[in-house]
Amino acid sequence: MDYSDYNIQFIKGVGDKRAQLFNKLGVYTLQDLINYYPRKYIDWSKTLTVKEVKSGEPAFIKATMITPVKEAKIRKGLTLYKCNFTDGETVIHVTIFNNAYLAKALRTFDDYILYGKVDRTFTEASMSSPQIEKAEKATGIEPIYPATTNLSSKIIEKVVRAGLDKVGAIPDTLPEYLLTEYNLCSLNFAIRQIHFPDKEENIEIARRRLIFEELLTLQLGLMKLKSKRATKNLLKMPLDFSEEFYSLLPFNPTNAQKKAVADCIADLNGDRQMNRLVQGDVGSGKTAVAGAVMYTVIKNGYQTAMMAPTEILATQHYESFCKLFDGTDIKIALLTGSTKATEKKKIKLALYDGEIDLIIGTHALIQNDVEFKNLGLVCTDEQHRFGVEQRSSLAMKGNNPHLLVMSATPIPRTMGLIIYGDLNISVLDELPPGRQEIRTDLVTSAYHQRIYKFIKNAVDNGNQAYIVCSLVDDNDSDLLSAKEYADKLSTEVFQGYNLGLLHGKMKPKEKDKVMQEFAKGNVQILVSTTVVEVGVDVPNATVMLIENADRFGLSQLHQLRGRVGRGKDKSFCILVSDNKSESSVERLKLLKSTNDGFKIADYDLKTRGPGDFFGTRQHGLPQLKIADMLEDTKILEQCQECAKYILKDDPNLDSFPELCRQISDMFRKTDY
Ligand code: ADP
Ligand code: MG
Repeated sequence: MDYSDYNIQFIKGVGDKRAQLFNKLGVYTLQDLINYYPRKYIDWSKTLTVKEVKSGEPAFIKATMITPVKEAKIRKGLTLYKCNFTDGETVIHVTIFNNAYLAKALRTFDDYILYGKVDRTFTEASMSSPQIEKAEKATGIEPIYPATTNLSSKIIEKVVRAGLDKVGAIPDTLPEYLLTEYNLCSLNFAIRQIHFPDKEENIEIARRRLIFEELLTLQLGLMKLKSKRATKNLLKMPLDFSEEFYSLLPFNPTNAQKKAVADCIADLNGDRQMNRLVQGDVGSGKTAVAGAVMYTVIKNGYQTAMMAPTEILATQHYESFCKLFDGTDIKIALLTGSTKATEKKKIKLALYDGEIDLIIGTHALIQNDVEFKNLGLVCTDEQHRFGVEQRSSLAMKGNNPHLLVMSATPIPRTMGLIIYGDLNISVLDELPPGRQEIRTDLVTSAYHQRIYKFIKNAVDNGNQAYIVCSLVDDNDSDLLSAKEYADKLSTEVFQGYNLGLLHGKMKPKEKDKVMQEFAKGNVQILVSTTVVEVGVDVPNATVMLIENADRFGLSQLHQLRGRVGRGKDKSFCILVSDNKSESSVERLKLLKSTNDGFKIADYDLKTRGPGDFFGTRQHGLPQLKIADMLEDTKILEQCQECAKYILKDDPNLDSFPELCRQISDMFRKTDY
């Protein structure tokens, strides 16, 4: 039977009302139910005596009740029930709060198992509101489910039991030889044991299988997406024009840049179509690398498309490449959402006729009606803003063009493997020489008046400043929104100065307009949420003030800091935080001590976890139920190998219908 079509409400013990509670937990079908895993377990067989327990720690104590329950009404709504137990050596004073039902059920001289924190003195012990089970009942391992109001773990447990009865033996998704190869238990065993383990070891065995299942599904899904593109290099480009390109630059490329360009140019003439990620910290000069590769592709006779996540970035790239290629015969055009309809039509026609060599744009570029004569390279900038699907849909245009991706987000290796799969990676691990060190300061809000004065000074000297504050749609009412703060700043603090406001709820067009005004220098102080983090270049901006800095991830702060220090003037990054906690201060101090984006990302990852560092939204990957992409790296690597192996023989997964269903289920919920 198809469990994913079976509505939860028809399972024994559920019904209409309870089904709604399950829905709140994301459980709609029988399939969802059997995949709703316990978050922990209580092993009732692990009993100790009071003397074996450390005071203050939770434990299971097998004990006999020795005094009847005494009831004490403390006040309305609070009734205490007290009684004594003994484990044979020590008397345990037990207090139960409000639970009349439990208190009534207890019988003197019966044996129970008490689970909870044990507070011990020399001669006695006490437990407050322990979980109490009859000794003869409390033998196995009890699953504890993430529960909700009116839907307790106990009820969920009962329903899962009924659900598992209903499904019967669960057919396996993987053939026997793969189970053997990767030392996995059967799916049936895994599902049953993850809910109701017979013994503790089985939990790990079951978990491993389910993690494998989930990561394999993820991996296969991503690989299938990627395999929409052919990998054979149908556009071999034998000529290397990088030196010619370098002679156009007003500076000498760094060794890291040259190495990355050489990697790409080798790809262009390789057996397989280029799929390369160039990863480099803010300011490492990724644009010049892209430029060299695009120049080479164009000189080999092909068209090139460069895609940026925002209009302002696309426009900036357009302007700088126009300048750089001035004097060459390369024809460049800009295509964004705000390009006028008639102009758009002209550009599209010219692209189709091959009259444009380099097209720079935003999402408008990937619309279906843009056609190329001979597209040779697609280059995406700051790629983490694009989903895989968007990337591949541009790549599908034309005759499987080469693909170059640039990202400023440092990514741990296994994570990179997941997100970029078969992409090759070049790292720019060197900053151009002569970069000014940005001075970073960490202060409390008591310094605001001085900071404002400092900003006024900078602006009076002809420079510009960013002020970044908390998100505008933040419900946290004690923090000012960007809008409120901007109002306050323009009316009270910076009267007579030109302020601009940028926040996430503005339309892209409005944002771009403000950004343009800032880039032109008409706006002197830009008050903004984090939307400025993407690689805009305003060399005249020298102050970056970040309010409530402790609320941001370090990598994010680092990206923000990278918005200044791009010109000839000394630049400053001021982090304001009133958070006195040791961990918060330590984090922010790290930022002060280093400018190395990889080091910062590493620290972020270790202390805040992948959720913050790589919010699902940002990396665009589906939410996982049991696997953890950072913890389960070993299984992840096995899955990557296994997925490749499976797809080699069976690219359409014809013999894995259940995996196919799981893949579409997993990817349905994301914006792939
Ligand atoms: P990012 O990697 O953050 O995209 P950019 O490509 O925007 O960095 O480069 C940042 C700045 O550094 C630009 O102004 C660019 O002209 C300059 N730049 C890039 N490469 C070099 C180099 N080798 N020497 C000097 N300046 C460089
Ligand atoms: Mg950039």
